[in-house]
Amino acid sequence: MNVILMGLPGAGKGTQAERIVEQFHIPHISTGDMFRQAIRESTPLGLKAKSFMDQGLLVPDEVVVGIVHERLGNADCSNGFLLDGFPRTVAQAEALDQTMQELGRSLDHVISIDVAKEKLIARLSGRRICKQCGATYHTEFNPPATEGVCDKCGGALYQRDDDNEDTVATRLDVNVKQQEPLLAYYGQQGLLREVNGDQEIEQVFHDIANYLQQSR
Ligand code: ADP
Ligand code: ADP
Ligand code: ZN
Repeated sequence: MNVILMGLPGAGKGTQAERIVEQFHIPHISTGDMFRQAIRESTPLGLKAKSFMDQGLLVPDEVVVGIVHERLGNADCSNGFLLDGFPRTVAQAEALDQTMQELGRSLDHVISIDVAKEKLIARLSGRRICKQCGATYHTEFNPPATEGVCDKCGGALYQRDDDNEDTVATRLDVNVKQQEPLLAYYGQQGLLREVNGDQEIEQVFHDIANYLQQSR
């Protein structure tokens, strides 16, 4: 099962991805996570991505397309994958189509988690992430049992550098602009499944799982 998770920053892609991979056993491929790891390890990829990410801008298509192409060719993707945060532009979507063709595969679902832009600032500013396992929390909407500590692994929670007020505003603007043509692109292909992301986390997951079960 080859699935894309779309949605504006803060819509709940990472939160839902945690649940999807657990139930459907496909690898979670987040381009944002790949970049953050590359930055932590100071690799050439990390150096390329950092200044764009710090400003809330998109990393250039050719950089992103290359790492996704490579990643999807890995053996663990042979039974499917969950792409989170890619594609973000029509050019990336076209490149992905090309990769899929080369692999002799096709997309099954493009899930779009829809949340009004106005709600996303509060979601992003309260977001906290586990340093150890990457689990996502929210200080108000999805708090851990003990403040600052991951329920799952006991790791320390931190706030992402780009979840500050200035960067968040740019990220939302950039992504709103890219989102419309991308939704149209997948709508035309009959792959788009829109889910109301302004519901309880478990209800959003229920709606997504409904779609994913249809191809199993
Ligand atoms: P969010 O969904 O909260 O915006 P991500 O972790 O998906 O967070 O992305 C963080 C940053 O990584 C983006 O603001 C952008 O700079 C970069 N990035 C991630 N995925 C892509 C992509 N497909 N194309 C371009 N830049 C990307
Ligand atoms: P994305 O990966 O799309 O940027 P996240 O999954 O990281 O989004 O979610 C952004 C923030 O919103 C996190 O703090 C998360 O705990 C919270 N969140 C996710 N889904 C919901 C929801 N349905 N209702 C309220 N808050 C949510
Ligand atoms: Zn953890």
